[in-house]
Amino acid sequence: MSTLSTAWPQRLAEAAAERRGQGLWRERRTRGTDLVDFAGNDYLGLANDPRLAEAQAKGARRFGTGAAASHLVNGHLEVHDVLERRLAELVGRPRALLFSTGYMANLGTLQALCDEATHVFQDRLNHASLLDGAKLSGARSRRFHHRDHDDLERLLARTPAEAAKLVVSDGVFSMDGDVANISALADLSARHGAWLMIDDAHGLGVLGAHGDGCVGRAHDVERVPILVGTLGKALGTGGAFVAGSEALIEHLIQFARPYVYTTAQPPGVAAATLAALDILASEPERRERLRDAIDYFRHEAALLGLPLADSFTPIQPLMLADTGRVMRWAVELHEAGLAVGAIRPPTVPCGEARLRITLCAKHGREALDRLLENLSRLQGEEAG
Ligand SMILES: *Cc1c(COP(=O)(O)O)cnc(C)c1O
Repeated sequence: MSTLSTAWPQRLAEAAAERRGQGLWRERRTRGTDLVDFAGNDYLGLANDPRLAEAQAKGARRFGTGAAASHLVNGHLEVHDVLERRLAELVGRPRALLFSTGYMANLGTLQALCDEATHVFQDRLNHASLLDGAKLSGARSRRFHHRDHDDLERLLARTPAEAAKLVVSDGVFSMDGDVANISALADLSARHGAWLMIDDAHGLGVLGAHGDGCVGRAHDVERVPILVGTLGKALGTGGAFVAGSEALIEHLIQFARPYVYTTAQPPGVAAATLAALDILASEPERRERLRDAIDYFRHEAALLGLPLADSFTPIQPLMLADTGRVMRWAVELHEAGLAVGAIRPPTVPCGEARLRITLCAKHGREALDRLLENLSRLQGEEAG
């Protein structure tokens, strides 16, 4: 970017040319309803559940389609309050605070907690919003090798003992599907007097005995003081929350600018999320069906010799490495009626382009077999 000219139209043209030249130009396509979805994050199949839609409509009729104000002015409605209590209960924390999106929850939390004197330690593969939040806060940020606790320990040991330290990690890594070792991170953080923040966007609703995620009730608030969950993935709605101690939540209400200066979540969305939480509790078979789909897909893919990453979550990356190859396969699959994510740099490191295949409780054998057959065909065509 440093070589860009100062004239705006020319700057844009140069940036576009650079990105196209790298084969990284991105295009949106409107989602076809005729495709089998192996690209989304609706792991429990709740996003199209009529009960959620009904709850959303009822919530809108009762409270309005919009919240009309920020939480601190007068946009904080009873339905938000009830939802915060239910979310705190789900993950076994004293309190939870709703945010409009997960991106904002991460920005707000890091910005409110950290400043230039804070040392933040991030897994190299953390979500962009966590990296951006640390940047926004002005904290001194360092990245440790992915799930490498020795590397993290080395960085922590080099930091002055009295400095404020925050270790930050995805729970389930969004592009890889592997899971952070929460116990090891909690031990290490405690040993170095650091707080631990886990973003469990992809674990919530899917992992844990109650769908409470990879942290949830299994790791208490002393061990994992800051827990972020998002509602637009397994819970099928939208928004996010931060869960933790009374003091943490009050601090965020006072200081998290992406919380303070934005309109509260539409009340119908909060009402739909409450319906999703009811279903999460009353229909554990959804998690079992998802588990079955994952086991079946991995078993069959292994027989076909497909280069799947080592993941036991619904995120099943097929490591094709080459960007052109990823795009070709994605287009072919699309033509066969199957939507998968084509993930390229800069979302993942160079040389690690992949198809991001996501599984859902609604995927039956037929859909899975269709995907497997097409992947097998593409692999065969390349070999032949
Ligand atoms: C999706 C995601 C987010 C962002 O959540 P949104 O609600 O979509 O803004 C944050 N962190 C991780 C790990 C995610 O996968």
